[in-house]
Amino acid sequence: PLGVNTLVVDSAADACAGQVAPLRLADWTDYAALEKFAAEVDVVTFDFENVPAESAHWLAERVAVFPDPRALAVAQDRLAEKTLFRECGLQTPAFQAVDTREDLDRALATIGAPAILKTRRLGYDGKGQFRIKQRSDADAAWAALGANAHGLILEAFVPFERELSVLAVRTRDGDFRIWPLTQNWHTDGVLSLSLAPAPEVGALQSRAEALARTLAEHLGYVGVFALELFVKDGALLGNEMAPRVHNSGHWTIEGAVTSQFENHVRAVLGLPLGSTAARGCSAMFNWIGELPDAAPVLNAVDGHWHDYGKQSRPGRKVGHATVCANDAKALATRIDTIAKALQRDEQAAPALRALAK
Ligand code: ATP
Ligand code: MG
Ligand code: MG
Repeated sequence: PLGVNTLVVDSAADACAGQVAPLRLADWTDYAALEKFAAEVDVVTFDFENVPAESAHWLAERVAVFPDPRALAVAQDRLAEKTLFRECGLQTPAFQAVDTREDLDRALATIGAPAILKTRRLGYDGKGQFRIKQRSDADAAWAALGANAHGLILEAFVPFERELSVLAVRTRDGDFRIWPLTQNWHTDGVLSLSLAPAPEVGALQSRAEALARTLAEHLGYVGVFALELFVKDGALLGNEMAPRVHNSGHWTIEGAVTSQFENHVRAVLGLPLGSTAARGCSAMFNWIGELPDAAPVLNAVDGHWHDYGKQSRPGRKVGHATVCANDAKALATRIDTIAKALQRDEQAAPALRALAK
């Protein structure tokens, strides 16, 4: 809609780049191809957080790259990320770096069980994590993850009341906005369902906004990012940030005045931002592993279907559906109808409980 011409670059053979034929890289150190890419474009951004930070830095010496690759580098390392959160006044679960088997024992002695051992880098959708229920699980955790070359982090397991995410956007001029907070539910570490605006957030909205703004200003961030939060005893704890548009913000495509995608493009191009207000309320179902029948979503009033054109594979996000309504009651009815038709009652149940309050 903005009349922007795009050139997509990727190192994967089956790059999921919509209708645009990607410029193929042999890998992210294919600097000859990146040189050609840099010469053809005015601005570079990324929607994948595992672009090696060194490649992004290399590009930034030749062409404008937003967000700054320094933000990408921080978000790629859970240890650096949580350390930054604390510097910015955002509390986190207790955590400790783990590089050796002895480190794990020491960290478990301090943090206690239950805890989660995570790879510092390259984890997504709950991959690269081991849940330690009791101290005696340490051997199994080490057997699963100890060989990881990038180091590990042990985090206290937080029995949170709810999970929220902040979707935020900041322009080159420092204009900063967030969308209404989103409430998220995960199954086996994978996002399953989102509800926006998150019901009954009260003062959490402005607290989350202030924290996200501090973080964005500290990083000189330009573009959209998501901040994943746990709510425990009414307080916010930082889980991780995604330096990109985020799955929990997909509802903004139909459910907000301006979507996360459009505002990201506006921000990186130096254009004014659009309103981040919600249009009524929305729920987003993630389709994991394979797509269900589309008909119940297509038949719903204000139901929207998204098929990513990916091969089915267990645990893989292959699409999502968003359903919108003017008020919580109408939304609950639409969610319930879709869930029953698709036999997804379990997936929908948390949203229905939250809306019924
Ligand atoms: P993403 O796909 O969001 O990038 P990820 O693989 O980076 O996921 P996390 O966000 O760290 O992983 O964890 C996935 C989910 O596991 C969280 O959203 C939360 O539900 C649960 N989880 C992670 N860390 C903790 C923790 N310390 N305490 C309780 N639950 C946790
Ligand atoms: Mg993550
Ligand atoms: Mg996460």
